[in-house]
Parts: sequence; structure tokens; C-alpha cells
Amino acid sequence: MPSWLDKKFGSKVRAGLWLASEVGEGNVFTKGQLRAAFPEVAQIDRRVRDLRDHGWQIDTRREDESLNLDEQRFVKQGVEVWLPGQSKSPKEKTGLTAAQRTKVLLADSFLCRSCGIGAGESFGDGGQDAQLDVARRQVLGPDGKTQTQLVTECNRCRVGGRERVADLGAVIGTLGRMSPLERAVFAGWLDAGRRNPSPMEKLWGECRTLPEEARNALRDALRGMDQ
Ligand SMILES: [Zn+2]
Repeated sequence: MPSWLDKKFGSKVRAGLWLASEVGEGNVFTKGQLRAAFPEVAQIDRRVRDLRDHGWQIDTRREDESLNLDEQRFVKQGVEVWLPGQSKSPKEKTGLTAAQRTKVLLADSFLCRSCGIGAGESFGDGGQDAQLDVARRQVLGPDGKTQTQLVTECNRCRVGGRERVADLGAVIGTLGRMSPLERAVFAGWLDAGRRNPSPMEKLWGECRTLPEEARNALRDALRGMDQ
């Protein structure tokens, strides 16, 4: 690992090196220590925050109540930003070719993967119709590593969705605890690219508007079935 004092690196990279070599994963550092290490960098706090775009986990009091206001915890190192080509923020990287863009849109069936709206569809509120584009989504894998992947997103979801991290590991974990039947239903949705209402949900749709008397009759009928 290069030295954090090496000024050929930018301040974000140096901040990462300082955390990795001087603070160490799992340890707490204060704003004062950070500023003392980088007296010449005006916004070193912000550079540390920028490391989060590269999968670095740095908790503040908001995420970790045991911390004081001026403390942060360097929880986990992300991408090795000091390696060539790794220090550019995922937000800064642009310039997909038309072919790359089309490939992503096709793979996503021209649907926004956040809200499900299709290209040119109305949001239903009288505003401009949906425009789809390709966005970068942070995906937290089961191995705990964050990867940037391309995904189709509409103009509304793109605004404000930049910090979103899709926790693939958590999804896989939850599915692992479900029954084979639930997993089969889920796999069907995944293949179809949409959630088809199950027979139970269709039934619920029919029954939810029933008046009280009819609901009571339904309850009685249900009770009778399994006795
Ligand atoms: Zn959307």
C-alpha cells in the first residue's frame, strides 16, 4: 500500500490510505485527528465521505449511536482507490457507448428497475412521460463487496436515487429462509420481469371490498373448512 503522505495522490485517495494505514478497520477517529493529518486540505471531511462511493463504510453517529458527534468509525475498506483507474467516483464516470446503453435497456425490457414504468409511459399525474436512461447501481454482494452495475432507471427515480445501494446479499439471505414454494413463485416473477398476482392475491382483491356482514360469513366459511 502506498504512503498516505505521498502527494502525487489526490486528497480522497490519501484520506483512504490514511484510514487504512493509520486508523485501521473497526476503529474510531475524530474530526480533529483527520484535520491534523490533512491541515492543507480544506474539505477533508467531504473527501472521506466521497470514499463511500467506492464501497467504503465510514459510520457517523447517524449509523452508530455509540459514537460521539465528532467521531466516525472506519468500519470497512472498499475499493482500493489508490490503484490506477479506481479513484474515479461511479458518479463521475460517464460516456457509455450507444451499444452498451442499448444492451442494458434491452436486458431490462425497457422498464425502470426502480418503479417499473415503461419508456414513454405516463406517470399518471399529468406530468411529462417517463424517459428511461441507464444508471449505475451499487450492488452489495453476498461476499460483502460492493460492485457498480448498470441498470435502467426512469427520469423520476434517477433523481434522489443516486445513493441507493441494492443489498443483493440481504435479498439472497431472505430468500434462503423462505419455503421452496415461495422461492418458486419469486423465481417466476424474476423470469417474467413483473410480479404476477398469485391466486391468493387475486382472491384477496375480490374479497377486500366485501361489507362487514359478508366478511363475517367468509370468516365462518373459512373456519368450517379446516375442522
Ligand atoms: Zn422509475
